[in-house]
Amino acid sequence: MPVKRIRSKCCDRCKKNEDVLYRVRIDESRAWIFVCPDCLEQVKPGNSFYQYGGTWKSKKRH
Ligand SMILES: [Zn+2]
Repeated sequence: MPVKRIRSKCCDRCKKNEDVLYRVRIDESRAWIFVCPDCLEQVKPGNSFYQYGGTWKSKKRH
């Protein structure tokens, strides 16, 4: 299998490329998705399905 070298991930909601994404569950499908900070602000408030699973960060350049 070819190995993809990707430095950044896409937000599963807005498809924006971000350096920092949050791994969360936001609906009844219980599926883990990655969302950017902007989308997190939109999906988190009052969401009874919301569960936080960690933060993903691309490797920082020095
Ligand atoms: Zn987003």
